[in-house]
Amino acid sequence: MQCEQAREQINALADGELAEAIASRVGRHLVECGACRDEWDRICALGERARAWRDVCAPPGLRGWIAAALWVSEAAGCGGGDALPDGSGMSALRAFLAQDGDDGTKGTE
Ligand SMILES: [Zn+2]
Repeated sequence: MQCEQAREQINALADGELAEAIASRVGRHLVECGACRDEWDRICALGERARAWRDVCAPPGLRGWIAAALWVSEAAGCGGGDALPDGSGMSALRAFLAQDGDDGTKGTE
């Protein structure tokens, strides 16, 4: 396997999305190739940092503030309703805001 091929697969490998046969080929390349191994280490470090961010909570008032801003912009008829048609990200955002704020990754402390 060439470096270019390996690099294309490294992200998927880090996410555990590669089929076993391909994963083992990439893995063999990583054993032999220091440059790709460095890239692998970098991606793994990024993934660990991203996972650490899951434990970071938004400030307590943020959800309420966004909900209020949405309500105000809706009440004011911002965009005349054309900018954000039904089924747009707006309803997804509203559903997100309606959650209790616990995505299950954090305790109740
Ligand atoms: Zn390589």
